[in-house]
Amino acid sequence: MEKQRHTAKSVMELFRQLPEGERAEFLKMLGEAQDGNEDLETMLTEKRFSGGRVCPICGGVHVQRNGRRANGSQKFVCKDCGKTFSIRKNTIFSGTHKSASVWKEFLRCMSEGLSLDKTAERCGITHATAFVWRHKVLDAIGDALKDTELTGIVEADEAFLPVSYKGDRKAFDGGGCGRKPRKRGGCNHKRGLSDELVCLPCAVDRKGKAIGRVAKLGKCSAAAVKAVLGGHVSAKATLCTDGEASYRKFSKGNGNGLVQIKGGKGTVKGIYHIQHLNAYHSRLKTFLASFRGVSTKYLNNYLTWNNVMGAARSLAEKTSALMDIAVSALFSETSLAIPKRSPLPILVEKQSKTKL
Ligand SMILES: [Zn+2]
Repeated sequence: MEKQRHTAKSVMELFRQLPEGERAEFLKMLGEAQDGNEDLETMLTEKRFSGGRVCPICGGVHVQRNGRRANGSQKFVCKDCGKTFSIRKNTIFSGTHKSASVWKEFLRCMSEGLSLDKTAERCGITHATAFVWRHKVLDAIGDALKDTELTGIVEADEAFLPVSYKGDRKAFDGGGCGRKPRKRGGCNHKRGLSDELVCLPCAVDRKGKAIGRVAKLGKCSAAAVKAVLGGHVSAKATLCTDGEASYRKFSKGNGNGLVQIKGGKGTVKGIYHIQHLNAYHSRLKTFLASFRGVSTKYLNNYLTWNNVMGAARSLAEKTSALMDIAVSALFSETSLAIPKRSPLPILVEKQSKTKL
């Protein structure tokens, strides 16, 4: 019997015949087959040396190849500072010794929003490594988005989330956080906008760009809005908010037009509303809930993560957006330093006050 020769068209026909679950599996295998050809070193070299070779230590441009390490990776020497380095130096991949396919799988897990346990299992790494990798990538995202500018109609409003000391046992042991540990999903001890809530001013524009950060404890203020939105909203933008005075002050200082929507509901002139922002808040809360609570000290990282995920449409697009950010990022913090980060400054302030 003559062997059938397949064409792209005939394979596509076969693909259509696959049951739905098998299709996803096939696409995953296809992605992996492509990854195999794309070595992490090649990706890093192309990205980092896109404008010619540059030293990651001193920024000098007199960089030469200088043999290979025992594991085969290319070494470089900088004629300006005399240091030798590999292409992974000062990137989030330095010291991880894992192949591109493990990292790509890891980023795919992040795109799917998988837990650290599931991610560790799927990638064949430890929970601790998955934790450190996640925060390296999140830091890189934060860095990549730090110059975000919102334009056009910009919807702004704050969200409130309960303060969480998840993973910070010392904060409880020392009594420093000023209250007993709250059980997961439990309500706050105090009613209203108490200082057990963190205030996160957020803004989105109609192109899908978003910003948001932890500003303070308790109710919003003009200073909090300025601290988060300042430098990120184009002076030509029109700010769309509810009746809150903090945003009125901000728009005045920033030179923006302002449309206030009473009670945050309804539409003015057919285009001004804050529905995109309300959707952003609810997406953010669903995203955070999927991790069963996020420690407040890491909240900013999760906010930027949610922003990248919200801007990408498909899983493949999300993964490649993350890979692009990961490969471009410069990162010099050691893996050991990440879990030792201190709580946010606002929390430190609160803790020292409670101790007095
Ligand atoms: Zn140098």
